[in-house]
Amino acid sequence: MSLIPFDTGPGGVFRYCPKCAAAAMRFIGTKLLRCEACGFELYMNPAAAVGGVIVDPRGRMVVLVRGKEPGKGLWDLPGGFVDPGETAEEALAREIREEVGLEVAAMRYLGSWPNVYHYGGIAYRTLDFGFACEATGVEKARPMDGEAERVLLLEPAEIDLARFAFGSVGRIVEAYLQG
Ligand SMILES: [Zn+2]
Repeated sequence: MSLIPFDTGPGGVFRYCPKCAAAAMRFIGTKLLRCEACGFELYMNPAAAVGGVIVDPRGRMVVLVRGKEPGKGLWDLPGGFVDPGETAEEALAREIREEVGLEVAAMRYLGSWPNVYHYGGIAYRTLDFGFACEATGVEKARPMDGEAERVLLLEPAEIDLARFAFGSVGRIVEAYLQG
C-alpha cells in the first residue's frame, strides 16, 4: 500500500494545477501540493471518519461485510466520513442509521487511529475516531444502503481482527474488546 497520497506524474490524478492548468504540481512533505508554475498550494489534511462498535444484549457485535471497494467482502464497522459541519457523534449516529437502520442512544469514545483510504486513484489520509455505541433492537440491524453486503452478529470469540478491511477499524474493535 502506497503512502504517497498524490500521484503528480504523467497520468496522475493530481498532475495538472487546478488554477493555471500547468503540469507542474509537486508533492511536498506529507500533505501539501504546490504548483511550481503559479505557486498555487493545496493542503490535503486528514479527513475525519468514525466507526462504531454496537453489541446486542448477548454481547454479539454488529460487523458489516463490505459491499463496495475498497475492501469489498472484508469486514467493517458501521461508520464513514464526517460531513462538513457535523460533530463526530452526529456523523456516527447518521451513518449507523443509514447503513444498518439502528438509532444510537449513547456512545463512549474509544480513541482515534490514522488510516489510508484508497479511492479513485487517491490515497486519502483519514483519522478514524472509534466509539462504543448503545442501541436498542440491535438484532434487527440489516443492510440499508449498499455499503454493507451483509450484517453479521458475532460472538467475541468469532471476531478475527485480520479480516477487517482497514487496520484502524481493527484497532477500534481491539480497543473495545480489551475494555
Ligand atoms: Zn498553477
